Amino acid sequence: MTAFVFNEPNFDDHEQVVFVSEPKSGLKAIIAVHNTQLGPAMGGCRMWNYVNEGAAINDVLRLSRGMTYKNAVAGLPIGGGKSVIIGNPKADKTPALFEALGVALERLGGRYVTAEDVGTSPADMAAVARKTRYVAGLGDRGDPSPFTALGCFVGAEAAVKFHLNRDSMEGLVVAVQGLGHVGYDYARRLHAAGARLIVADIDQAAVERARTELGAQVVSVDDIYDAQADIYAPCALGATLNPATLPRIKARIIAGAANNQLATPEIGDQLRMKEVLYVPDFVINAGGIIKVCYEYLNKPEADVEAHVRQIGGTLTEIFEHAARQGLSTSVVADRVAEARFKRAT
Ligand code: NAD
Repeated sequence: MTAFVFNEPNFDDHEQVVFVSEPKSGLKAIIAVHNTQLGPAMGGCRMWNYVNEGAAINDVLRLSRGMTYKNAVAGLPIGGGKSVIIGNPKADKTPALFEALGVALERLGGRYVTAEDVGTSPADMAAVARKTRYVAGLGDRGDPSPFTALGCFVGAEAAVKFHLNRDSMEGLVVAVQGLGHVGYDYARRLHAAGARLIVADIDQAAVERARTELGAQVVSVDDIYDAQADIYAPCALGATLNPATLPRIKARIIAGAANNQLATPEIGDQLRMKEVLYVPDFVINAGGIIKVCYEYLNKPEADVEAHVRQIGGTLTEIFEHAARQGLSTSVVADRVAEARFKRAT
C-alpha cells in the first residue's frame, strides 16, 4: 500500500492532518494544521474538483505550509493552516456541506481558523459560522483584496527604491497580468502614482476598463511576458516565472500578488543572476490576511492599513539581507519566516 501523507513531497512535519467525512452532507474535506507556534493556524478553505485524493492531500499540505510562512513574515500572531473540500464548487455546494465543515472545525477547538479561498465565498463562510466561531473573513467588514493591492503597491515602491534607486513610480512602466480583485486595484494605484500600464487579462471587459479608466496599453495574455516594462506584476496565475518565460521577461523587478509565482525554487536564483529583483510573493501579498486576521481577533480596523504598509520595510530588509549574503530574495524570505516561527518553538 502506498503511504500517502508522510511521503508526500509537501509534507513538512505538519502538526496535524485531519480527514473529514460526513455522509449526510457528502462532505469530504482535509484540514492541515502546519504550525501553531505563533498562534492558531489560519488559512482559507479551498473547494476544488481534485483529480484524486492524492492531489487534494498534496495541495492542502503545500498551502498550509505556505500560510505559516506568510503569516509569520507578516508579523501576525497566527500560525499556518488550510483546508480543502473535494468537490465541484459550481455543482456540489450546499449550506449543509459548509455547516458540516463548521462542526469539524469546532471539534478542533480553535487550532485552525478558516476563511474563504478559491471556490468558496463569504456566503459559504456564513454557513460555516452557524456551527463554529473559528471562521474569519465573513465579509461583514469588507473585501480583503484592496489591502492585498495596497501591500503590493508599497512592496513595489520599496523594490523601486532599492533596485532602481528611485523615490517614485512616475514614468515607470508596469506590466500587469490579471485585472481581478487585486490586480485592478493595484493597477489603479500605480496609475495614480504616475506609472504607465501594459495589461493583459482573459476577461475583455477588465482590459477595456483599464484602457479607458487608466489609459493602459492592452496586450494579449501571451504577449505580456515580452512587454518592455520596468516591473512585471503577476496578479493572475501561479508559476508564471518558469524556464519558458524567464528569457522573455524584460522587467528589472517582479512585484505581483499571485501566489506561488516561482515554478521551482531554483528560478529565484536564476532571477538574482539576471539582476532581476524578485519580490517574494508571500511577503508582498499578505495585505489580505492581515486584514482578515485583524477582523478575526477584533483588533481595530483603523490599524490595518499601518500594518499592511509595514510590508515595505520588511521587504527592504529582505532585499538588503539577500544582497549582503548573495542569496535569492525568496530564500531570505523563507529564512525570515522560519526564524520567527521556529524561535517561538
Ligand atoms: P481574481 O480571480 O479576482 O482575479 C484574477 C484575474 O486574472 C481575473 O481577472 C482573471 O480573468 C485573470 N486571468 C486568469 N487567467 C489569466 C491569464 N492566463 N492571463 C491573464 N489574466 C488571467 O483573483 P484575485 O483575488 O485578484 O487574486 C489574484 C491573485 O492574487 C491570485 O493568484 C490569488 O491567489 C492571489 N492573492 C489574492 C489575494 C486577495 O486578497 N484576493 C491575497 C493573496 C494572494
